[in-house]
Amino acid sequence: MSLKVSRRRPLVAQSEIRNMTIECARVGGINLAQGVCDLPVPLPVVRGAAEAMAAGYNIYTRFDGLPALRQAIAAKQERFTGMRVDPDGEVVVSGGATGAFYAACLALLDEGDEVVVFEPYYGYHIVTMASLGIKPAFVTLEPPHWRFTAEDLERAVTARTRAIVLNTPSNPAGKVFTREELALVADFAASHDLFVFTDEIYEHFVFDGRAHVSPATLPGMARRTITISGFSKVYAVTGWRLGYAICDPEWALPIGHFNDLVYVCGPAPLQMGCARGLAELGDDYYAGVSADHQHKRDLFCAALADAGLTPHVPEGAYYALADVTSLPGATAKERALHLLAKTGVACVPGSAFYRGPVGETLARFCFAKEMDVLEDAMARLRRLR
Ligand code: PLP
Repeated sequence: MSLKVSRRRPLVAQSEIRNMTIECARVGGINLAQGVCDLPVPLPVVRGAAEAMAAGYNIYTRFDGLPALRQAIAAKQERFTGMRVDPDGEVVVSGGATGAFYAACLALLDEGDEVVVFEPYYGYHIVTMASLGIKPAFVTLEPPHWRFTAEDLERAVTARTRAIVLNTPSNPAGKVFTREELALVADFAASHDLFVFTDEIYEHFVFDGRAHVSPATLPGMARRTITISGFSKVYAVTGWRLGYAICDPEWALPIGHFNDLVYVCGPAPLQMGCARGLAELGDDYYAGVSADHQHKRDLFCAALADAGLTPHVPEGAYYALADVTSLPGATAKERALHLLAKTGVACVPGSAFYRGPVGETLARFCFAKEMDVLEDAMARLRRLR
């Protein structure tokens, strides 16, 4: 018998986040490895979905989503970023931001293409592309400032480069790209005629008075940018699997067709729930969740510092990278396992976010937890000292 798995199968072997989650469960620890937010789902979102189910929104929707949700996404994009979006042709509702990114890669990139990616990276971006035969070219950002120059971008380019991926606010560094940095990316994309795939899933979580700038709003960027975001984080509905891509209709149609092929459509009643959330939740809701995460960031980063794990204080999202070189071990993984054994707190080794050696000095902690869980984790970390 010569049955065997595909050549791409090794690419999706157990991720470090899943490994740490399993290790954490084994020792009954506190899981700060997984990026799952414990916050409650806003009532209009839950009610909108429940009412839609009762009202018969239970069948396939159009491949790019229900009109109510596409219209609400277009209105939201204008409200928060000033972008003018046509809900009929420029929005594709998908299976989370993950689905939108996959459908966009399928629709716009070919095997053998290269894509510029900043590291530390979000693993799904890399593995999604690798599974399609697309090669990442890394621009390495280092703590504490995570800065880059136009020359850094140029060094990553070859004749096969077709796109750049931009995750702002970023996971895991919590970097919020400034307008100046985005202008560098815009110039770079224009001069090499690249697509810009964004991942703005943490767009509402920005701290210390910073503003999220949507890359598509920069001059010259509208046509080349595939703006990707979703509801998992902002409404704490990671299990609903709803996100979207916004882009020029010339790209939205093929993205929609691949979205249809892989997902058919987003879950119909849940689409209505998210549409209701977008329509009814006011600025106070968004400011509230951001302030809540900022408060937890401050508490948690203080605990990391007390534990001797110097934090690289994030500007957005809900993760903190910390310097773990004070822990015993030769690699980030050994250090993370030591921390788990000693304190019962699980984190992700920084090597999960870097190809190069920088990751071995770092670990990522998710602080979007209920207060009692976070307090328990902080008390355990402080006992390290
Ligand atoms: N993009 C980033 C950067 C993330 O950190 C995550 C989840 O951790 C996702 C996308 C997943 O988004 P979704 O649940 O909408 O697929």
